[in-house]
Amino acid sequence: MKFQLLGTGTSQGIPVIGCHCEVCQSKDYRDKRLRTAAVFMDSYGHNIAIDCGPDFRQQMLRARINELEGILITHTHNDHIVGLDDVRPFNFSMKRSIPLYGLEQHLEEIRSRFTYVFEDNPYPGAPKIDLIPISPYKPLAIQGIQILPILVWHGDLEVLGFRIGNYAYITDTNRIPERSIAELRDLDILILDSLHHKKHHSHFNFEQSITVAQRIGARRTFLIHISHHMGLHQSIDRRCPENIHLGFDGMILEN
Ligand SMILES: [Zn+2]
Ligand SMILES: [Zn+2]
Ligand SMILES: [Zn+2]
Repeated sequence: MKFQLLGTGTSQGIPVIGCHCEVCQSKDYRDKRLRTAAVFMDSYGHNIAIDCGPDFRQQMLRARINELEGILITHTHNDHIVGLDDVRPFNFSMKRSIPLYGLEQHLEEIRSRFTYVFEDNPYPGAPKIDLIPISPYKPLAIQGIQILPILVWHGDLEVLGFRIGNYAYITDTNRIPERSIAELRDLDILILDSLHHKKHHSHFNFEQSITVAQRIGARRTFLIHISHHMGLHQSIDRRCPENIHLGFDGMILEN
């Protein structure tokens, strides 16, 4: 079982269009960040994507994902769902709809944002997506892979994190309730939101993410959803405490 980080950037990605800062100009491949997303892969070749943002197509191609068992949706900000139209190649090659799992209110939002997908007589060739509601702390299984959805807060918005075995993926949050902290015991790998250094109304900043990561105490933690204001990968990664690292696109995490 392993996770691959498909994107580790915040909503604008890095480089930011028109930006001349040292991070956006950096030649280090670790400073090039697509929008935050990941894929979980088991040893049987089953792939489960987490989120489906604007870089979904490029991320699937780059990671050579040819089959997808489902997509877990954390929340409905554009950088996490706007790539949904690009599930079509999976519909065609796998000859079936793609199951998409999320909180009921998030699925409702997706239904209204992608009306052409869910109307009664969709255009032939429109994406085929089955919306499957899930709830925090109620385990689900996809192709035998056990997944526990975990509630976190993103400002005043509910977001789902996911625990799969001893891995957990938590993006877009600035507050993790105690119940969820309790579900994150004994992790080998934690993947956690960390935007930049200033305080933010809906994301952990660098300092907060380190404090929370140390409290959760996973064997290793990798930070994601990174802004160009975070600084160069190389210099910030060096400042992380032991067992905590900045994630980068393409990084494969396994224990
Ligand atoms: Zn920049
Ligand atoms: Zn968000
Ligand atoms: Zn986001």
